[in-house]
Amino acid sequence: AIEARELVKNYGTLQVLKGVSLAVREGGVVSLIGSSGSGKSTLLCCMNLLELPDRGDLSIADETIHFTRNAQGNNLGLDRRQIQRLRTKVTMVFQQFNLWPHLSVLGNVIEAPRRVRRLPKREAVALGEHYLDKVGMSDKRDEYPAFLSGGQQQRVAIARALAMEPRVLLFDEPTSALDPELVSEVLGVIRGLADEGRTMLLATHEMHFARDVSSQVVFLHHGIAEATGTPQQIFEHSDSERCRRFVSSVA
Ligand code: ATP
Ligand code: MG
Repeated sequence: AIEARELVKNYGTLQVLKGVSLAVREGGVVSLIGSSGSGKSTLLCCMNLLELPDRGDLSIADETIHFTRNAQGNNLGLDRRQIQRLRTKVTMVFQQFNLWPHLSVLGNVIEAPRRVRRLPKREAVALGEHYLDKVGMSDKRDEYPAFLSGGQQQRVAIARALAMEPRVLLFDEPTSALDPELVSEVLGVIRGLADEGRTMLLATHEMHFARDVSSQVVFLHHGIAEATGTPQQIFEHSDSERCRRFVSSVA
């Protein structure tokens, strides 16, 4: 499980997250929706500690970090080792797949397990093959990313995230960079992971998918979780006028 409480993130004088609270229970799937610039990517980056929040609490599995800054803007009392450790428990799949071009498919998938988890090669390869099989990419294990379609590259990126055996998977608009005909193969993989009971948080513009796959949906507006509810609540009768307007504008 992962939970943010009252997270605040500033970039200079711009407050991008204004106290966002959001929880994904164990085995839950939460979709983050909202206009461009509402803070979805920033929130995801804070949830896996790629960016450090300025204020608030973040709980990952059974550990909580409290963020606070002094007047000089320095983060106080953070335990670097704890942050490093927690980063490995939450992995992110990006819109641009960001595969290493100089590594084969398998090489991409086993890189972090070898370097970060320090698995011996044989074990990392077995793990890599297992997750490539799960995303239907086993037959391309020795291929290089440049020779794969966008959908195939994204499936490899998902296998790479899974190979860290994280507690939580984050997705930042995983299909936005894909040609339309390649979207469904990637959504199919994500749906399979949801069915397996993986804990996931997903920023997406695919409203039908969000509706289908999520246990909860959060509508983010200008750095605030403006509405949170079941897909039915959010897509059919939100109390928030802004949420209703957003949903009807993208439908
Ligand atoms: P999109 O749907 O376009 O991906 P988003 O909801 O993911 O949008 P963010 O990328 O989180 O939105 O951006 C939220 C705000 O924070 C924007 O105003 C953006 O310009 C600003 N921002 C994001 N990252 C940085 C950064 N590294 N430095 C300064 N400002 C940033
Ligand atoms: Mg974004």
